Amino acid sequence: MSPIKCIGLLTSGGDAPGMNAAIRAVTRSAIYNGMTVKGIYRGYKGLITGEIVEFKTQNVSNIIQRGGTILKTARCMEFKTPEGRKLAYENIVKEQIDALVTIGGDGTLSGARIFAQEYNIPVVGLPGTIDNDLFGTDVTIGYDTALNTIMECVDKIRDTASAHERLFFIEVMGRDAGFLALNGALASGAEAAIIPEISTEKDQLSEMIEQGIRKSKNSSIVLVAESEITGGAMGIAERVKKEYPDFDVRVTILGHLQRGGSPSAQDRIMATRMGAAAIDALLEDQRNVMIGIQNEQIVYVPFSKAIRNEKAINRDLLNVLRITSS
Ligand code: ADP
Repeated sequence: MSPIKCIGLLTSGGDAPGMNAAIRAVTRSAIYNGMTVKGIYRGYKGLITGEIVEFKTQNVSNIIQRGGTILKTARCMEFKTPEGRKLAYENIVKEQIDALVTIGGDGTLSGARIFAQEYNIPVVGLPGTIDNDLFGTDVTIGYDTALNTIMECVDKIRDTASAHERLFFIEVMGRDAGFLALNGALASGAEAAIIPEISTEKDQLSEMIEQGIRKSKNSSIVLVAESEITGGAMGIAERVKKEYPDFDVRVTILGHLQRGGSPSAQDRIMATRMGAAAIDALLEDQRNVMIGIQNEQIVYVPFSKAIRNEKAINRDLLNVLRITSS
């Protein structure tokens, strides 16, 4: 019999499609294994304020197809302080929670790591972020849905772009990672992607223009990752206006619509597998690990590795994009 009788479950930071599928899988797997589940609302904030409710099987019925998170999410500055985390731990003791499952991005896992270091409680994390920027997992929950949303939006912009002769810069999310921009560009047949991983090495805009973007085309679409490093779509467009005034430039910022919508089949399946794996990990006495997927296999990644911000982008894809858009 596992010493873990009760788990606390929360979603935190930026929401991502598929978080509900993960909540469902964690809850059902825990109950299947004889554990009690406590849903913690609004991420670490609810852990501090004690917004905690027992979850039964029915609480997670009919949610696998829904975007967002039924547990709500929040950003909580107080949890970044030792005093805040102490209050959180007091509620864990009060609610008799033996282990925590946290679903979120880089920040959420950083918080989980610190908390697990300070207090003797096993924590398992699930990678829930559209940005795909966590090391140790091929993909994160929400990434595939966001990529599909981007593709659909770019298809629509392409219709209007080719009716005029314009250069469109479309800004997509990703924080300091270019996965959404690069793969979004490949999926939608965009002409180029400007991504932070490359911006630090060379001037992608001037290279793109010098290589003759738009020479034989009547419209061009470039996906730009939102990062400060790239300057974002607005920053790039300003530069074009100054440095290459012949171009008729337009900017679209896709913004929060990239987070919404019903999760794709891939995100639902991944979230379900990872959710079940989180309970397996606790049963195997794992602690302070993120569940990842590598080559279709579940893996356990220590928090310290997952959040080190070292996930490399596949640079071959840039070449494929350049060749196929030429
Ligand atoms: P995401 O999980 O999507 O990356 P955030 O970066 O906003 O989102 O992080 C979510 C929450 O995790 C923060 O609001 C905070 O409560 C907690 N958190 C983030 N970084 C830390 C940290 N270094 N120490 C403690 N808690 C943290």
